[in-house]
Amino acid sequence: MSAIPKDHSTSSPSLWSLKYEPEFESLGEDYADIVAAADFPMHLLRFRNDDVLGKLGLNPTQVPNQDFIEAFGQFRGRSPLLAMRYHGYQFGDYNPRLGDGRGFLYGQVRGTDGELYDFGTKGSGTTPYSRGGDGRLTLKGGVREVIASEALHYSGVRTSRCLSLIETGESLWRGDEPSPTRSSVMVRFSRSHIRFGTFERLYALQRPDLIRKLLDHVIETYYPHLAKEDDRDTLFYAELVRRTAELTAQWMSVGFCHAVLNTDNMSITGESFDYGPFAFIQTYDLKFAAAYFDHFGRYSYGNQPSICKWNLEMLQYPLALVMPKSALDEGLKEFEGAYYKTYRQRMMQKLGFAQSDSSEAEDLLSYTLGFLQSTQVGYPDFFAELRKSFTDLWLTDAGHIVSDSTLLNKPEWAELLDVWRSLYYRLLSQLSEGERAEVGDRLRQHNPLTVPVRPEIERVWEAISTDDNWQPFYNLLQQFPN
Ligand code: AMP
Ligand code: MG
Repeated sequence: MSAIPKDHSTSSPSLWSLKYEPEFESLGEDYADIVAAADFPMHLLRFRNDDVLGKLGLNPTQVPNQDFIEAFGQFRGRSPLLAMRYHGYQFGDYNPRLGDGRGFLYGQVRGTDGELYDFGTKGSGTTPYSRGGDGRLTLKGGVREVIASEALHYSGVRTSRCLSLIETGESLWRGDEPSPTRSSVMVRFSRSHIRFGTFERLYALQRPDLIRKLLDHVIETYYPHLAKEDDRDTLFYAELVRRTAELTAQWMSVGFCHAVLNTDNMSITGESFDYGPFAFIQTYDLKFAAAYFDHFGRYSYGNQPSICKWNLEMLQYPLALVMPKSALDEGLKEFEGAYYKTYRQRMMQKLGFAQSDSSEAEDLLSYTLGFLQSTQVGYPDFFAELRKSFTDLWLTDAGHIVSDSTLLNKPEWAELLDVWRSLYYRLLSQLSEGERAEVGDRLRQHNPLTVPVRPEIERVWEAISTDDNWQPFYNLLQQFPN
């Protein structure tokens, strides 16, 4: 993944050799509508995800840019294109007027890992669900989703990726961007676009038969290890609860605020997707809300665990039409335990430690969060600072810990920092020699040097919008794997 490479003329296998499997299509006509893609006046490939091509068994050097344009900008040779039907709870209110309003399922392919993946579009034209919208994606919106998903992926968050982003030469009008603004079409690579809201629509229609069929499809396709179990419905829901709790903990540890956790944006595979007004937090502020229209902070950074749990609870209504409610209640009880276990593990890793369940670890973590909260020091900066300033001297004396850091050694924080140092040292000194040798590596592995907080994304966008300079965008993406 990088700047757009030169075309390679070749007759070797390319995008056209991919074998599409009509798994979702085979569910029949009750779940989607056949739609047509928009005709765009221009196609400029701005991003291609060569890492994803590898996961599809393709050699990126054998996939010319022109193939991306024909497949994912002009949508040649694929049919039917399916706008998926769904409803959902938006900001707590049920909305039956949803569905793919600016996208469709382009096709499904199997990765080299044997799993089925969706190619889903965003910005590909109007559908029966556009509700007066233009069916389009702004270029800035596309750039932001590429950045979010790549950053999350390389931070170990289970997320969809962007396969391609093509600028399409139209002028769009938006309330939240200086307008007119440039247009794009994106292809998203994800485990599934079946949402909690896909089931909720069938509950609203009171169609247990269609819920049964969809649930069987989900289990057999995305939870095949459960397919032969007698109580597979129960096990499926419990696993979805666990996966969603773990995903939420992943977001919280990397400091990600999704911003629009409506049930139509919750995947039935427990994968994160659909990045609109998201933000990576700049400082540790549980009340931070990323969407300007989130007036009451419903989807604030700190509310994400309880909101995801609520969303899982709403999913019980459709599922209870085909399985016992008591089993669903049992499954939901797993949420907190799974959430805290993953959150503690990941935060302790960010602090350099493998163990996360001792009382010393708990003390250090809660004190660290208190320090981040009361100082409002940069959240990604704090952890990057640990990574950069770590030396073996830390292991010999508490006084050496972050002693060279100008970021942290502010006179007004001196007392807090001293207590933090002693808690940190207490844990360090309990490690065996072998474990001590791993601390520096762990700090490097779990604390990225570059996190795309808003000013960073705005800087990238500024270069694109004023000078059509894409280099800062490609440079940013290249930093995530480091
Ligand atoms: P989102 O907030 O992106 O998850 O979208 C919520 C709903 O609005 C979905 O049904 C989308 O398909 C639809 N939608 C969002 N933007 C547009 C647009 N520009 N044109 C048509 N439908 C849209
Ligand atoms: Mg959405």
